[in-house]
Amino acid sequence: MNDAALVYVGLGSNLDDPRRQLLDAMDELDRLPGTRLRRRSSLYRSAPMGPQDQPDFINAVAEIETGLQPEPLLDALQGIEAAHGRVRERRWGPRTLDLDILIYKNEQIRTERLVVPHPGLPRRAFVLYPLAELAPGLTVPGQGRVSDLLAKLDDTAERLEEDAGARAR
Ligand code: ATP
Ligand code: CA
Ligand code: CA
Repeated sequence: MNDAALVYVGLGSNLDDPRRQLLDAMDELDRLPGTRLRRRSSLYRSAPMGPQDQPDFINAVAEIETGLQPEPLLDALQGIEAAHGRVRERRWGPRTLDLDILIYKNEQIRTERLVVPHPGLPRRAFVLYPLAELAPGLTVPGQGRVSDLLAKLDDTAERLEEDAGARAR
């Protein structure tokens, strides 16, 4: 995978054993064509965004290397979501699995289906905490260093595990 792209994927779940949803999804990312899971963050817990009448979310970030172009990667992620029984109802409502492309190399993409870097990234604690665990010095295209973005947040996310951060595979 010489010209594989380095990509950060945000994972979230608040239904049907969220930890298991996330850990299984990490394995499934590793099995996508031309794709390897390099590292994953710890798992984090945070209060839901938007509607509050739903369980807390568990979130994490995966660092992958992939030969898939951005839109085929989005298709593959949506395939994994569907296989986890994801049903789209309310905006920001409860879900078994959400997979977002946070960063795709140093690219800035704006198509009908895809905005990268993910627009929520700079202001979401549940994205920046796990991302900073993996890549504090990374520059988010158009937005600056992950550690600087994190320093500007006044929100937090609770880390659930001690062992898994930045674990090499
Ligand atoms: P948010 O994007 O604010 O986190 P969400 O994850 O709940 O909200 P979804 O319902 O999962 O939103 O996705 C809606 C659409 O967002 C998808 O169908 C996809 O085409 C589009 N989208 C745009 N940019 C991205 C991205 N970077 N990663 C994943 N999906 C994206
Ligand atoms: Ca999302
Ligand atoms: Ca999504």
